[in-house]
Amino acid sequence: MQVGRWIHQATGGNDYRPATDGTETFSYRTPRGGSFGGNRRRRSGPGGFDRRSPSRPGFSGGPVRRGHRKSGIGSFGETEAEIAKFINKAVVTTEEEPTFVPEHKFADFPIDPRLKKNIEAKGYAFPSPIQDKAISHVLVGRDVVGLAETGTGKTAAFLIPLIDKVVKHLALGKRERVLVMAPTRELAVQIEQELAGFAKGLGFRGMVAVGGANINPQIAALRHDPEFVIGTPGRLKDLMERKVLVLSSFYSVVLDEADRMLDMGFIDDMRFILSKMPKERHTLFFSATMSREIEQLIGDFLVDPVIISVKTRDTSRNIDQDVLRIPPDADKFEILVDLLQDRDFSKVLVFGRTKYGVEKLAKALSRKHIYAESIHGDKTYRARLKALDAFKRGQVTVLVATDVAARGLDIPAVSHVINYDLPSTYEDYVHRIGRTGRAALKGKALTFVQG
Ligand code: AMP
Repeated sequence: MQVGRWIHQATGGNDYRPATDGTETFSYRTPRGGSFGGNRRRRSGPGGFDRRSPSRPGFSGGPVRRGHRKSGIGSFGETEAEIAKFINKAVVTTEEEPTFVPEHKFADFPIDPRLKKNIEAKGYAFPSPIQDKAISHVLVGRDVVGLAETGTGKTAAFLIPLIDKVVKHLALGKRERVLVMAPTRELAVQIEQELAGFAKGLGFRGMVAVGGANINPQIAALRHDPEFVIGTPGRLKDLMERKVLVLSSFYSVVLDEADRMLDMGFIDDMRFILSKMPKERHTLFFSATMSREIEQLIGDFLVDPVIISVKTRDTSRNIDQDVLRIPPDADKFEILVDLLQDRDFSKVLVFGRTKYGVEKLAKALSRKHIYAESIHGDKTYRARLKALDAFKRGQVTVLVATDVAARGLDIPAVSHVINYDLPSTYEDYVHRIGRTGRAALKGKALTFVQG
């Protein structure tokens, strides 16, 4: 294949051969006894959700310096030692993947039979490891720390027992309200979608309260006192300051992707929100990583938590990783176009560093008849959902994204992740490539290194 000429042996014998190988919010309300339904509203106001993207335009295509870092905004992958971390052939082994044998069946959990039916209707036959380990603790009211990332089934691990709690309170004529904090609008909507499936016919309400959207429909939805409020910290705080969201009646809280919320600078908002909740409450905390800051939060806000760590996919085993070395004078866009014409590149997530660059790249690809969509924080929420949906359904084969916009997204069967621009940190790299190689599928990750 033509592009092969750009590909150098990355490490001894590690041969990459591409040829072969008004919203932004939407709230729903559940009429008692009725069914869940979406009610998307138009967005108003600017996006502004991609807080971490550097503001400089274009891609970071400059020559790569070896052995030392550039000053200022750095990229991970500017030294040979760092580049080596982008290379890892998925090891071929005859060893069988150990199959997880759950201790519980959904039928065993002492939860409402209607909820069990909804779980079954969603096609969940067995609990995932995090569900198997967490649900019974949550059901008896323990605080739980789940060290697990998207793709492990962590959402259902907290939703199932909390829905059961809400339903049991309703049966006794009481109310239980649940607050879920998530870092991004997309994740909040994903959680809501999962909730909608589980909550069919159970007669309670939920809503999504996220930023970058018209706040008025959210205020209106809050007047109905929904049992579940799922939101991003900034908007939740805003609603609290307007006195339309009063947390004194919320006795359960979930912090989802807490590490990501910290990364995005939400720490003060998170602390503010938690400080306004009842002291005696049920707190669930999910994070993909553990750091000193995370430990501090856990110590401050949880009481005697059960800590459950779920080993997710082993990156080095599931994902073929390699670099594509590009000479300084070569046009990396043309190389990308060449690659994407290969039929193996059937569902490709391309990462760029800036919102502007991502938008520009998606448009340039489309002009080359490679139909691409983009997601980044300058796009309206509605437009982002539409783009994501088109990619999930296979209507476009390429989705160009910024790190923040793509974080936490659960997109099935991504064939390749291409790091068109270097990630800022190794952690970002791991998150990027984690969008491929999900479940039992093998994924491929390719990092462009120019210089
Ligand atoms: P999450 O980690 O919560 O984002 O979930 C990842 C994906 O796994 C979602 O598409 C869920 O619908 C799906 N999922 C979660 N739990 C189960 C289960 N027990 N069985 C089958 N699929 C599941």
